[in-house]
Amino acid sequence: MAAPKKIRIGFSLATLQEERWGKDRDFFRAEAERLGAEVLVQAANNDDALQISQCENLLSQGIDVLVIVCHDGEAAAAIVESAHKSKVPVIAYDRLIKNCDLDLYISFDNERVGYLQAMGVLSKVSEGNFVYIGGSPTDNNAYLVKNGAMKALQPYIDQGKIKIVYDQFTPNWDPAIAQANMENALTMLNNKVDAVVAANDGTAGGVIQALADQKLAGKVPVSGQDADLAACQRIVEGTQTVTVYKPIKAIATAAAQAAVKLAKGEKVEANLTVNNGKVDVPYIALDPIPVYKENMYDVIIKDGFYTIEQVYRNVP
Ligand code: BGC
Repeated sequence: MAAPKKIRIGFSLATLQEERWGKDRDFFRAEAERLGAEVLVQAANNDDALQISQCENLLSQGIDVLVIVCHDGEAAAAIVESAHKSKVPVIAYDRLIKNCDLDLYISFDNERVGYLQAMGVLSKVSEGNFVYIGGSPTDNNAYLVKNGAMKALQPYIDQGKIKIVYDQFTPNWDPAIAQANMENALTMLNNKVDAVVAANDGTAGGVIQALADQKLAGKVPVSGQDADLAACQRIVEGTQTVTVYKPIKAIATAAAQAAVKLAKGEKVEANLTVNNGKVDVPYIALDPIPVYKENMYDVIIKDGFYTIEQVYRNVP
């Protein structure tokens, strides 16, 4: 009897710019291989046309299932339609793909991420001038984290305690753009900024650089997400207030297991659905965890995400 054909999974990432995506790729591949599957990985450098052509290429190599971290949640619908023409199911990983017959969405609860970011900043300062530095306008998560942050901020805005004095998305989540926007905000406001809700650790890095140039780093609370190593270091050193940790091993492992099931034509259990503008997509949501100086050790070090030496490099 011939050996059963090995399952082939295509994994298309929008970018490897943030540190997390390399971990997503590696944990995903490890679990898929453990289950006997093979993974073909592509990363698209935040370029829609490139992501589409890389996915077409994966499909032409005869993959059984396609897992996508999309750059643009609208543009990627074309990839899903094209995969379905080849009878290949598609999983949206971390970022939702809109207006198509998507098979499964797996992510962290992104509204909760935004809520935890704003709550982290509010735990330090709950009045004054707030700046919002958002994510990429082509990424559905950017809207979700902003909605979540606004849920936390709105009661203070309604009471007249907080004013959002500057509010900008950040194309491609680019730290340099976040820094330039923060410099504009500081100039416009004559440095009168009391807190910054930044949508991820990359943009937080840009914001903190702009604050540092005005000798304000450590004086103005700043949020992020991803528990990037640089962000964890800034938190223990005092220039960033909070990050939101999303255990990457958990999402990558669950996604690899789901991909293998879909490739075999089996059903995947998802306890939620999310409407993507066209259909109710089965949705697996994982829980994010806020991280401050106080719980860094218990959350990040104990989970093995980084070592003590990595995070506390400058802390005696
Ligand atoms: C992810 C974040 C990441 C950002 C930039 C978002 O869709 O949820 O974890 O920092 O993209 O890559």
